[in-house]
Amino acid sequence: ERAQLDLIRDQPPVSRDGVKIRLLANIELPEDAAHAAGMGAEGVGLYRTEFLYMNRKDLPGEEEQYDAYAKVVSAVQGPITIRTLDLGADKQVDSGARLGPTPNNPALGLRAIRLCLKEPELFRTQVRALLRASRFGQMKIMLPMISSVGEFRQALAVIESARAQLLREGQVLADDVPVGAMIEVPAAALAAPMLARVARFFSIGTNDLIQYTLAIDRVDDEVNYLYDPLHPAVLQLIQRTIEAGVRAGIPVTMCGEMAGDVRYTRLLLGLGLQEFSMHPANVLEVKRAVLDADLRELHAKALRMLASADVEEQQSLIAAIGR
Ligand code: PEP
Ligand code: MG
Repeated sequence: ERAQLDLIRDQPPVSRDGVKIRLLANIELPEDAAHAAGMGAEGVGLYRTEFLYMNRKDLPGEEEQYDAYAKVVSAVQGPITIRTLDLGADKQVDSGARLGPTPNNPALGLRAIRLCLKEPELFRTQVRALLRASRFGQMKIMLPMISSVGEFRQALAVIESARAQLLREGQVLADDVPVGAMIEVPAAALAAPMLARVARFFSIGTNDLIQYTLAIDRVDDEVNYLYDPLHPAVLQLIQRTIEAGVRAGIPVTMCGEMAGDVRYTRLLLGLGLQEFSMHPANVLEVKRAVLDADLRELHAKALRMLASADVEEQQSLIAAIGR
């Protein structure tokens, strides 16, 4: 089984009908970069930066962050999408206490981009370090938990002003560092056509998108049984996000767990997804599914499935796509 998968390691992920699909890795530590490439990933679709803030009482400064980003960006062959700080809710750190009181509803509170916009110094420090490291590779910056165009624009303004400041200081930066939005709040998925006019790419975060769409806490075991990536509302939000990206001509990646679960690969291809970012260990399995897939056929089936208003029929159409 493993030996069979090894045979396709160096094969490009192209569908039967000739469409090139991008398979990227999710990583958490700079050291993970080399492993990701060894597993057949074409680059990094999600580098989570929270680890820099973990197991310590203070916050990492610009130089420390710059060193970490420079290292990881240099180590990755191909593109690397780095997510700005996503603290709060399920991602707590020791130094978090100094960033304000624990909210009543952490998942709905001051987390991720909200916290960064509330604490401009925290955000600016990270953004400066990222931009300074941009010259070592193909970096993109991704903003987590975006819920509106205004919020995206506000974050973009901080990034633009940091860029201008760095250039005044004489720093060498990459010419272009695309900034994109994670689509993980239902409002962002519904407003995707508007967001696509300001964001250079989308990345669908299904872990949170499912949590918020179905109103189930992703870390509460009591409601775990309701966590359903195949819920019709979730599928519609995913499809609309992909469609909005395609119409605007911007890339759409999925970096939530769903993207690395081979049970959903054919369905996601049918919904039009062409970039998948996942744990490196899943890349080869997903690649095998891509190599076997006929996108035209899957697309027709997915459209029929989405149009069905009958839940049993929809489920059987989904099952048929998966085969
Ligand atoms: C997600 O929400 O799907 C995601 C990729 O981010 P995280 O799991 O880190 O919240
Ligand atoms: Mg998330």
